[in-house]
Amino acid sequence: MGTATTTTRPADAAEWQRSLIRQDEIDRYLDDGRDFIDEPAIEKALERGRALTGGELRARVRQAIGKAYSIKLMDDDDVAALLAVRDPDLRAEAIAAAEAIKAKVYDNRVVTFAPLYCGSKCVNGCKYCGFRAGNGAVERRVLTMDEIRAETEVLAGTIGHKRLVVVYGEHPETDADYIAESMRTIYSVKVPARVGTGEIRRVNVNAAPLPIEGLRKLEAAGIGTYQVFQETYHKATYADAHPSGTLKGNYRWRLYALHRAMDAGIDDVAVGALFGLYDWRFEAMGLVAHARDLERRFGLGPHTVSVPRLEPAAGTDFSWVRHRVSDDDFRYLVAVLRLAIPYAGLIVTNRESPETLRSVIRMCTQRDADTRVGIGAYAEAFGPGAQREENQQFMLGDTRGLDAIVRELADMGHIVSFCTAGYRCGRTGKKIMGLLESGREGCFCKLNAVLTFQEWLEDFGSPDTRRIGEAVIAKEMEEIRARVPADYSEDAYARFVEARERIVSGERDLYF
Ligand code: SAM
Ligand code: SF4
Repeated sequence: MGTATTTTRPADAAEWQRSLIRQDEIDRYLDDGRDFIDEPAIEKALERGRALTGGELRARVRQAIGKAYSIKLMDDDDVAALLAVRDPDLRAEAIAAAEAIKAKVYDNRVVTFAPLYCGSKCVNGCKYCGFRAGNGAVERRVLTMDEIRAETEVLAGTIGHKRLVVVYGEHPETDADYIAESMRTIYSVKVPARVGTGEIRRVNVNAAPLPIEGLRKLEAAGIGTYQVFQETYHKATYADAHPSGTLKGNYRWRLYALHRAMDAGIDDVAVGALFGLYDWRFEAMGLVAHARDLERRFGLGPHTVSVPRLEPAAGTDFSWVRHRVSDDDFRYLVAVLRLAIPYAGLIVTNRESPETLRSVIRMCTQRDADTRVGIGAYAEAFGPGAQREENQQFMLGDTRGLDAIVRELADMGHIVSFCTAGYRCGRTGKKIMGLLESGREGCFCKLNAVLTFQEWLEDFGSPDTRRIGEAVIAKEMEEIRARVPADYSEDAYARFVEARERIVSGERDLYF
C-alpha cells in the first residue's frame, strides 16, 4: 500500500510554519538591510523610458536590440526604453529580433513538459489561487506514492513525456522530505512503450520557498530546475495578495528562495511573475533585477523565465484585478524578456489559448502539453471519467494532447526536443550558460534534439505526426551535415548518424 511519506514531521502545522523560515537565510543576502528590488529606482527608469518619444525612442530601442545579440543581461535603461514602446511597427521590430535571438541561442528547438500536481493542501491565502486555505470549492488531497506512480505511468507510458514539473501547495504533508520522495518515485517508474521504455528523465520542481537544508534534499533526489515565481515584485501589491501572518506573506523569504537554492548546490533555478497582479512593465524590471542579483552573487542568472498570466480559479473572486495584460501586450512582454535576459529559456504554458501560444512560441523554448492541473488528474482523465473542475488550481486555455502539439510545432518547423542530457552529463549552471552564450551548447543540443525526437516518434508518434516529424528531422540532418567540419568533426557526425540508426532499430536513451 502507498504511503504519503516515510519520514517524520513536526506534529502540527503551526509548529511546522514556525520552524520553516530562517531569518538568517534572508539577512545574509541583503545589502545594508536592503533587498535588490529598489522600487524608486525601477519607477525612475520606467519614467526615463516613457520620456523618450519618436525618433529618439526608435534609435534607443534599436541600439538596445543590437546589444541583445551579445547574449548578455540588458541594463535597466535599455529595458525601460523597450517597455515604453507602443507603436506596433517598432514592437514588430523587437518581436522579430526576439525570434532571431531565440534562434541564435536555442535554434529551432522547443522542449515540452507536463506539470504533475501532487498536493492541493495549502496553508497560504493567495487571493488568486484555487488552492488557498479555506477555499471550499476545491477538493484537498495529497497523492500517495502509489498515486504518484500511477500518474507517472500515464505521463511517461501513455503520453510519452520525458520531463515533468512537479507542483505542490505549501503544507506540512508536502514538505521537503515528501517532495524528495515523490521525485525518487517518479524517476523509478519504467513503462513499456511501443518499442522502448517510457520514463521521466528530468523532474523540475515548482514548490514554495524552502530553507537550505530542505533544498539540499531536493538536490540529492536529482532535481532538474527549481522554480519559484515571485508572483509580483511590487511590495504593496504582494502584501495585498498574500495575507500577512501566512508563510507566503513573507516577501523576502520568497525573494531569496533561489539564492538559497544556489547555496544548496542547485544551479538551475527559474524565475517568474504572475502577470495581472501589477503593472507588467514593473514586473519585467523586477525579473531583470532578480537575474542581475543572481548573476552578481553566483556568477549565474536564471535557467528559465516563466510568464504565467492570471486565470480564473474555482471559488475565487477576481473583481479586484486591475492590471490584466492584453494579448498584444503579452506578446510584446515575451519579446522584451527574450531580449532583456537573452540567455534564459522562456516558458509559456497552457494557461494561454492555442492562438496566443502560436504567436509567442518562436520566442520561447518550452511549453507544456496534455496538461492537467488537478490532483490525480492524469490517471482520472485517461481512465474512466473526465477532468473535474473542482480539482484544479486554475482553468486551462489549451488542453490538446502531446501528439497534436508535437505535430503543430513540427508543422511550424520546430524540432521538438525531448533531450534531458545536459543535466545528466553535468552541463548545468555556469557550464551551460557559458556554452549558450558562445553558441556551443547548440551543437550538442542539435544532435540530441534529433535523437530524442526520433525516439519519441518511434515510441509515441501517431502516423501523421511521424510523417511531419520525419520531414523536420531530414532537414535537420542536412543542416548538421553542412556544418561538418566547421562545427562537428567527421567522426562526431558518423557517430551521430549511427546513433540515429540504432534508435530506429530499437535502442534508447543515446545522447552526446
Ligand atoms: N505553492 C507553491 C507556490 O505558491 O510557490 C508552488 C506551486 S503554485 C501551485 C504554482 C504557481 O501557480 C504559482 O507560483 C502562481 O504563479 C501560479 N498560479 C496560482 N494561481 C493562479 C491563477 N489563478 N492563474 C494562473 N496562475 C496561477
Ligand atoms: Fe498555496 Fe501556491 Fe496556491 Fe499560494 S499559489 S495558495 S502558496 S498553492
